[in-house]
Amino acid sequence: MKLVLATGNKGKVKEIKTLCEDYEVVAYSELIEPFEIVEDGDTFKENALIKARAVFKALDDEDVVVIADDSGISVDILDGKPGIYSARHAGEDATDKDNLYKLIDDIKDTDVESSPAHYTACIAIVTKDREFSVHGWMYGDAITEAKGDNGFGYDPMFIPQGFDKTLGELDDNVKKNLSHRFKALNLAKKVLKTLV
Ligand code: IMP
Repeated sequence: MKLVLATGNKGKVKEIKTLCEDYEVVAYSELIEPFEIVEDGDTFKENALIKARAVFKALDDEDVVVIADDSGISVDILDGKPGIYSARHAGEDATDKDNLYKLIDDIKDTDVESSPAHYTACIAIVTKDREFSVHGWMYGDAITEAKGDNGFGYDPMFIPQGFDKTLGELDDNVKKNLSHRFKALNLAKKVLKTLV
């Protein structure tokens, strides 16, 4: 069974490929010209389904299974922001670094040095006749400094529960077993087993 990922995010593709070793995993951009998908849902689940459905339709191949992930970080002191807007926190064309430093500044503006925060991942699975969605979460603290170069996105400012280093400083293998995406993917794999 060929799993097509409805994402062009290299960090996510790398993580999902290592977590789904039993399947042939390809990014949709390896099969068709990447196109813009308007993520105008109100929840991670809606946005994941929007992406998976759009890619399934564009591929025009009934035999593929499309997986889309929508994820983000929610910071308690900011009332859960940026949440579903994590990818564009610093603006529409923001880079990961722009978003990271904007979030650090936002937390600093509240006069705290850290805040409880969590990552959410929703994975949507779309086939020719069925749709599924599963979630995973990772809890920890968002700090007002960027430390380390591992991972991607907000990882340099996120200390997972039970650790004293950021995901930017911790080995990729540590993140692999803790991550919101890992937890959601483990559930997704159970769903995939029912499809073969
Ligand atoms: P999406 O591609 O719309 O799901 O956007 C996800 C946003 O959340 C991007 O800005 C990512 O950098 C950020 N994000 C999601 N998962 C992670 C993670 O595991 N580490 C760091 N940032 C993440």
